[in-house]
Amino acid sequence: MDSMDNFVVNVSGLVRRPGSTRRVTLAGHVELVLDQVHRCGPVTADLRLEAMAGGIWVRGDACAEMVLRCNRCLDQIGFEARAPVRQVYGEDAGEDVLPIGEEGDIDLSAVLHDELCLSVPLVPLCSESCRGLCPVCGADLNEGSCQGHSESRESPFATLEALLEVPFDTA
Ligand SMILES: [Zn+2]
Ligand SMILES: [Zn+2]
Repeated sequence: MDSMDNFVVNVSGLVRRPGSTRRVTLAGHVELVLDQVHRCGPVTADLRLEAMAGGIWVRGDACAEMVLRCNRCLDQIGFEARAPVRQVYGEDAGEDVLPIGEEGDIDLSAVLHDELCLSVPLVPLCSESCRGLCPVCGADLNEGSCQGHSESRESPFATLEALLEVPFDTA
């Protein structure tokens, strides 16, 4: 069974009964394809479904335990993602209104995916003072400075730098 189905809810008992509500807790997997996300654990969504004229209003929270990558040293960082969910589903879909399927199903997977993506920091850091990796040898500079080339000019870029330092009028 496709785990995405876990985020499909049948609301046929609610539609056209404005004011009636239902609470649901959904759990499943959401695939987040973001460079800074190393791993995303199971997603749990606690939601309140409320019928209104012509549709269903879904409100609640989604949360997931994630492992992010430090933007500088690529170290793994635990992160508790929590995202608000606010979405309207209608019999007539439109701007900001997602469709209710013919069988009365609403599919929350896209909403949960988008909100969880937004909850992830753009530039995760293991610490504000993370020193990152040496651009030359890739050593983790948090564990001490790397051997050698920080002082000497053995960088493959040193030759290029030397060339750039030559004044244009020497020819
Ligand atoms: Zn770091
Ligand atoms: Zn180095």
